[in-house]
Amino acid sequence: MSPRVVVIGGGMAGLTTALDLARAGASVSLLEASERLGGCVAPVTPDGLPDGVALDGGAESFATRTTAVADLLTDLGLGQDVVAPERLGAWVLHADGPVRLPAAGLLGVPVDPWAADVRRAVGVLGSARAWLDRLLPARVGTADGPMTVADLVRTRMGRRVLDRLVDPVVAGVHSCPARDLDVDTAMPGVRRGLAETGSLAGAVARLRERAPAGSAVAGLRGGLHRVPAALAAELARHGGRACTGIEVEALHQGPDGGWSVLASYGHHAADHVVLAVPGAAAARLLEPWVAVTPPPAVPVSVVTLVLDAPDLDTAPRGTGVLVAPDAGVAAKGLTHATAKWAWLAESVPGRHVVRLSYGRGGTLPEPEITTALVDASVALGVGLTRRNLVGWARTDWPAGLGAPPPGHRDRMAALRRDLPGGLWVTGAWVAGTGLAAVVADAHATAATVVGGESPRSERRQN
Ligand SMILES: Cc1cc2nc3c(=O)[nH]c(=O)nc-3n(C[C@H](O)[C@H](O)[C@H](O)COP(=O)(O)OP(=O)(O)OC[C@H]3O[C@@H](n4cnc5c(N)ncnc54)[C@H](O)[C@@H]3O)c2cc1C
Repeated sequence: MSPRVVVIGGGMAGLTTALDLARAGASVSLLEASERLGGCVAPVTPDGLPDGVALDGGAESFATRTTAVADLLTDLGLGQDVVAPERLGAWVLHADGPVRLPAAGLLGVPVDPWAADVRRAVGVLGSARAWLDRLLPARVGTADGPMTVADLVRTRMGRRVLDRLVDPVVAGVHSCPARDLDVDTAMPGVRRGLAETGSLAGAVARLRERAPAGSAVAGLRGGLHRVPAALAAELARHGGRACTGIEVEALHQGPDGGWSVLASYGHHAADHVVLAVPGAAAARLLEPWVAVTPPPAVPVSVVTLVLDAPDLDTAPRGTGVLVAPDAGVAAKGLTHATAKWAWLAESVPGRHVVRLSYGRGGTLPEPEITTALVDASVALGVGLTRRNLVGWARTDWPAGLGAPPPGHRDRMAALRRDLPGGLWVTGAWVAGTGLAAVVADAHATAATVVGGESPRSERRQN
C-alpha cells in the first residue's frame, strides 16, 4: 500500500515536497488555504502591460549559491528559460547619497576590501579595517555557538562594511537588521568557508565561485510565477492532488500513530503529515505536541509601477537600489525590473517596470501610490509623477518574511527531533528565507519521509 501523505500549504515548499513524495510512490494530497497555489511566488498584473504579460508580485529571482532551484526548473522543463540578470550592478542609498554596491560580494560582504567600488562605499579607513579580516585568526567568527550576521561582519571586517553595505542588503532581502539575523541560516556555509580559507572575504569568494556566470541570482523568462503551475501539473501527472481553498484547522494523532487532518471540508486520514505553512500557522497546528516560537515575521508590501518615463532608459541606478534606514525613503528597496531582466524589457516595449518593497517594522506597510512615486523618484534620482504612471499594483504579504534569530538552525533541528512520528515540517520559517533554502529543505524533507531518515542527521553546513 502506498503511504498516504497530506501536505499542508501550497507554497514552493509544499509543492516541491508533494511532488517528490508523489514521484516516490506516495499517495499525496496537498491542501492550500487560499484560492491560489504558490504562496510567496505569485503573479501581479497592473494596468499598462501587453496581453499575456504578468509580473512577479512576490519572489522574482533565486540565489545561485547552490543549483537547487535551477535543477528544479530544469526538472520541470523550464531550464531553457533560466536567465541571468543584466550586469548593470545595484546601488545603496544612504543619507549622504547613493553609492554603487560592490560587484563582487555576498549579502553586501565584499570579496576584495580594496576594490575601487568597496573603497568608494566604505572609505579608505573602512577598506583598511575590512582588510584586517585576512590577518585575524580564523577562529574569530568560527567558534561554535549562535552568531548573528552583524557579529560576524563587525568582528571580521568592521562597522563601516556592516553599516554601509551589509545592513542595507540584509534589510532588502530579509526585512530585518543584520543584528537580528542568524548567520548560519542567512549565509549557509560561510563559517565553514571561513574556517577553511582563513578569512571572511575568502569564504565569500568561494561561495561566489559556485554561482554560474558569476551572478549571485538568476530569474525565469516570463516570471517565477510560472513555477507553481508547473509543479502542480507535474504533481498531477504523478497521481498527486493539489486542492485550493481548504484551510487546515487542526491535527489529531490516533492510538495507532495514524493522523487525522481536520480541514474546512472535514477530516482527512494520513500516515504522514507535512506542514509547509508559515511559522505562525505551523506553531498553532503543532501546539498539542510541541511549543514552538517561530522566528519573528516582518509584514511586507510590494508596489509595482508601470511607467512611461524615458529618463529611466539609461538605468540610472542599474538593476536597483537598496535603501539604508537613515536615507529618508520609506521603501527598503527598489528593483528596476526592466533594467534587470532583458526578457521583461522586450515584453513591455516603451515602458519601465519598477518594484518597490516596503517592510521594516511590525505592521503591514500598505503604502499609497503617492509615497511610492516619491520614493521611486528619490531612489532613482529621476522625477516621477502621476503623469509618468501607466499602471500600478500593490501586493501585500501579511505573513511577511521571517527573521531567523541566532541559533535558529539548532533550534529547528531540535524541533524536528521532538516531533511525533509521521509529522514533518518544512518551509521558509524552518529553512530560512529564499527559494534556494526552501527548495533544498523540501527535497530533504521528502527524502526523510520516504526514507525514514530524520533531517536532524543532516550534516551541518556551517
Ligand atoms: C515580497 C516577497 C519577495 C520575495 N522575493 C524573493 C526573491 O526574489 N528570491 C527568493 O529566493 N525569495 C524571495 N522571497 C522569499 C520566498 O518567496 C519565500 O521564502 C518562499 O517562497 C516561501 O515558501 P514557503 O512554501 O515556505 O511559504 P509560503 O510561500 O508562505 O507558502 C505557505 C502556504 O501555506 C498556506 N497556508 C497557510 N496556512 C494554511 C493552513 N492552515 N492550511 C492550508 N494552507 C495554509 C498559505 O496560504 C501559503 O500558500 C520573497 C518573499 C516575499 C514575500
